[in-house]
Amino acid sequence: MTGSLTTHILAARYLRDDENSFTDVCRRVADAIGETQREKETFFSEMHSLRFLPNSPTLMNAGTENGQLAACFTLPIGDSLPTIFDALKWGALIHQSGGGTGYNFSKIRPKASPVRELDGMASGPVSFMQIFNQATEIIRQGGRRRGANMGILNADHPDILTFIHAKEREGDLANFNISVMVTDAFMACIRDGKQDSVWTTHPATGDEVTVGDIWDAITGGIWKNGEPGVLFYNEINHHNPTPLLGEIDAVNPCGEQPLLPFESCVLGSVNLTRFVKEDHIDEVGLKQTTGIAVRMLDRIIDKNTYPLSRIETATKRTRKVGLGVMGVHDTLLMLGIPYDSAKGRVLCGHVMECITTAAVETSHVIAVESDSFPAWDNSRWNKCPMRNAALTCIAPTGSISLLADCSPGIEPVYSYAYTRRHTAGSSFAMLHPLFAQDLATAARDRFSSQPEVDQEINAVISHLRRTGTVQDINWLPASFRRLYKTATDISWKDHIRMQAVFQPRVHAAISKTINMPHSATDDDIAAAILFAWGSNLKGITCYRTGSRREVVYAIGEET
Ligand code: UDP
Repeated sequence: MTGSLTTHILAARYLRDDENSFTDVCRRVADAIGETQREKETFFSEMHSLRFLPNSPTLMNAGTENGQLAACFTLPIGDSLPTIFDALKWGALIHQSGGGTGYNFSKIRPKASPVRELDGMASGPVSFMQIFNQATEIIRQGGRRRGANMGILNADHPDILTFIHAKEREGDLANFNISVMVTDAFMACIRDGKQDSVWTTHPATGDEVTVGDIWDAITGGIWKNGEPGVLFYNEINHHNPTPLLGEIDAVNPCGEQPLLPFESCVLGSVNLTRFVKEDHIDEVGLKQTTGIAVRMLDRIIDKNTYPLSRIETATKRTRKVGLGVMGVHDTLLMLGIPYDSAKGRVLCGHVMECITTAAVETSHVIAVESDSFPAWDNSRWNKCPMRNAALTCIAPTGSISLLADCSPGIEPVYSYAYTRRHTAGSSFAMLHPLFAQDLATAARDRFSSQPEVDQEINAVISHLRRTGTVQDINWLPASFRRLYKTATDISWKDHIRMQAVFQPRVHAAISKTINMPHSATDDDIAAAILFAWGSNLKGITCYRTGSRREVVYAIGEET
């Protein structure tokens, strides 16, 4: 049935009026981006074989009137109406073109501060976020892809509690992901039990907010419905490749790209499943694809139509690209290695190391052939010519992994049999092919008659559709259950461990959800955030099973 979902996604999002197939899409994109005929053919072949796909805006817009090819943007917002409404306008243009925007609202003065011009009171950052949310809502009605926003507030902003509670009611600020930016000093207070320290004081009212107030609001909010996310300021800036160009205070909507103001970034992901050769990963092939992918992403920077000249200038100054992987869990399944195992983590670390090393090598070669990125002199790379200030990250690959028919990014499979609802009311019954194959083998080994085998297989699938897990089906061999764990079977610690394996091996950041059981407490959430901080992650997003009504995957829904 997956085939039909792929076809549906292709038609709904990627095919232009004159196109009929994925081949047509790859041809259009390759022709628009490749410089020479040879390059066009190489790019075509990498996409068409599903070894590599660029992010959706490239697949949708390359070679069309809307030539905007990047998924990620961040825009600065100052403490004045002109800067706020400029960002609103620019954000709208970005969304219209298929990109997502991240904003840090911390410069906006807190609610109830004096506003001199009007002799009145400021309404605070959260009130302005409502306008951004509404603008996104209106624009989304036209496009094929919904505009997404990341709203960030620093923990020391006096409105921090209002901000954290802003999405408490389901449906509010629905077009925003929200994240609190915390410093190491803040996290050290938590670690050291200094919850009573005052972290911020309102300049006009004198109201104080303690570390504990903020922390409890964060963990309570996550417990309630998965937000806010937490961003680790020091870790992000510690890895800023161009610190002399300024600090990084914002990330794109799903968090994988910390960017300077006005920067944009085009993403692309290698489909790891295509490199499984019997019992190992074909590293030679992986490096070759990585090299081509870097050349393609670097070309896109020059071929892109930018929504704003300032975005073009900022982007071309550092030439950041975001190459990542998808199909990681499927690859582990193909190799028979559990996601939550030391062996799995070692393999993933090795693979990502291989990709980033090959990406850096290619970027160096392009720099020698043409030039380094303009801000290279003053960058952390200034000992070795480099074309791009940052090369790797892990994107969610929410749409392109459906095109490639593999597990998204570095996430574990959410369920091996489920109903997937999609736009316009259509729904698809999904059954993971490897799971189905191994289940059939296990059933044949265990039961003697064919009707019995069929009956047990059907019972497992229907149990899975209802509950999302096979861990409690006793006749299934232990090794089968060990391998076929889902995102919700895997412990939060093992989720974070996987993120922590990838983080030091990518230049930018990682989009990942840390799934927690429905029974998780505030204390578990606090422990997870501390563990993430201690593991040198740049951010963390947690989700407690069943805490939100609006979910993409529908477990328990019969077709
Ligand atoms: N994004 C967006 N709207 C969407 C999905 C994604 O603006 O509906 C942006 C957002 O910045 C996100 C990035 O695209 O972080 C990458 O998302 P994903 O990897 O899921 O995109 P894909 O290329 O698979 O469509």
